[in-house]
Amino acid sequence: MHALQLVEWKAPPQLRDVPEPVPGPGEVVIRIAGAGACHSDLHLMHDFEPGMLPWDPPFTLGHESSGWVETLGIGVRGIEVGQPVLVYGPWGCGSCHRCREGMENYCENQSAIGAAGGGLGRDGGMAPKMLVPNPRHLVPLHDLDPVDAAPLTDAGLTPYHAIKRSLPLLGPGSTAAVIGVGGLGSMGVQLLETLTPARVVAVDTRERALELATEVGAHRTLLASDDVDAMVADFTKSTNGRLADVVLDFVGVDDSLALGARVVRQLGHLTIVGIGGGTLPVSFFSLPYEAAVATTYWGSVTELMEVVELAEAGRIAPHVTRYSLESAVDAYAAMRSGDLEGRAVIVPN
Ligand code: NAD
Ligand code: ZN
Ligand code: ZN
Repeated sequence: MHALQLVEWKAPPQLRDVPEPVPGPGEVVIRIAGAGACHSDLHLMHDFEPGMLPWDPPFTLGHESSGWVETLGIGVRGIEVGQPVLVYGPWGCGSCHRCREGMENYCENQSAIGAAGGGLGRDGGMAPKMLVPNPRHLVPLHDLDPVDAAPLTDAGLTPYHAIKRSLPLLGPGSTAAVIGVGGLGSMGVQLLETLTPARVVAVDTRERALELATEVGAHRTLLASDDVDAMVADFTKSTNGRLADVVLDFVGVDDSLALGARVVRQLGHLTIVGIGGGTLPVSFFSLPYEAAVATTYWGSVTELMEVVELAEAGRIAPHVTRYSLESAVDAYAAMRSGDLEGRAVIVPN
């Protein structure tokens, strides 16, 4: 079968012929419906130096996958062939304290395991079939179209986890800032809208991204510029003078972090989700009192189940553009050049 593989660091991916996966005992093969193209894949292709991560190419890309159960390995029970599923992406050891809580994104043995999951060190979903090493990574779908649902596993789950930890700050009269309204940010806006009464201010460098932000529920939008003072003034004009209780930075470059530090309130949360490689100086005077800065990585499998519930209820929906496996590189090119709105999903079958 054809698979879109990262063959070496800092190189474009290649469409290669690879053997079809066969499930060993306890494993499951799924037929892929869709595999979302995440900006993290662009970081893998362009930014990460060899040795930065505990795993290496080659592997098939696609860490945001959905499909139908195709073949069950010996001993797999509780799941039927043909069942539509999402693949929970971060694969931990399955037995440490965090994994037992469903938080395989924070597995305590990750450095010993190496690969972070399918599409991140192991073969992912940008191929007609994908091997999933354990059925605990599968979350059943019911009414959702599996192609449109694929982005829930990362573009949905990652903002959901980031927002959930800050929910106590997002009561009536509160403000949330979403910086970067692409695949993740457009889901972040919807999740804030459905989960909280917060006023949502969306920030992006692209007008089209801001139009999508408004479509999916942002109350105010702000075009990012080099003039941070002017942006802060614009921000507070749109919030009756109130700074942000929670800032979600889905970019993570110097400029977005600097803006986040300026618009976050005292006692607020500045949450860095984007892997843009920027830095933020931290000192007594660089942030408002008691503002807390944290990074977040992906989410737990039970949170993914909650995201699926929201999507099945029609309260959130990824904004999807479909691409064939043969044109997957075009999806990444569109993401890189700013010509994509929402999420690109590769449909290999
Ligand atoms: P994307 O390309 O779909 O969206 C990024 C958006 O940010 C685009 O709309 C772009 O115009 C905008 N942008 C770029 N520079 C900006 C700036 N200076 N100010 C404001 N907006 C700006 O990317 P995505 O797939 O949504 O991923 C977003 C980031 O999150 C990436 O860095 C990705 O690697 C990272 N990510 C992190 C996790 C995690 O668990 N922490 C998970 C998935 C993705
Ligand atoms: Zn991702
Ligand atoms: Zn573990």
